[in-house]
Amino acid sequence: MTPIDFKPIGGSCLCGGVRFELTGQPLSLSYCHCSRCRKQAGLFAAVLMVRREDFRLLAGAEHIRRYEPPAPFKHVRAFCGTCGSPLGEPSEAHEVFPVAASALDGDPGVRPALHQNLAAKPDWLALPDDGVKRIDGTYGG
Ligand SMILES: [Zn+2]
Ligand SMILES: [Zn+2]
Repeated sequence: MTPIDFKPIGGSCLCGGVRFELTGQPLSLSYCHCSRCRKQAGLFAAVLMVRREDFRLLAGAEHIRRYEPPAPFKHVRAFCGTCGSPLGEPSEAHEVFPVAASALDGDPGVRPALHQNLAAKPDWLALPDDGVKRIDGTYGG
């Protein structure tokens, strides 16, 4: 439920070419440690689930590129083609989609609920005890 006093939060890529805003509080925030997120995000991904109606692209549609992974993976990865920043999976085709929390320039209000796909976490990465629930696989799957 989006608080009535929710103030829009800006988001951007590293070079500033892509700018967007979230006009409502995201549904959730979680960490994904799968190998695909590791390679794209640089270590692991912080993923917001956002309602399409709450996502507004302000600038830079021409910079956005999409990587479509081979089957069975379905998650198309959007990123800035100029600076490489991950953006998540903003889409006109889905009611709710992932947005990279790393792109936000403000606090979305939600807090992490889950570390998922920990089975794929590199052994050399020690996670401090942050009190967030941890699972080896994917939530719900
Ligand atoms: Zn960029
Ligand atoms: Zn992942």
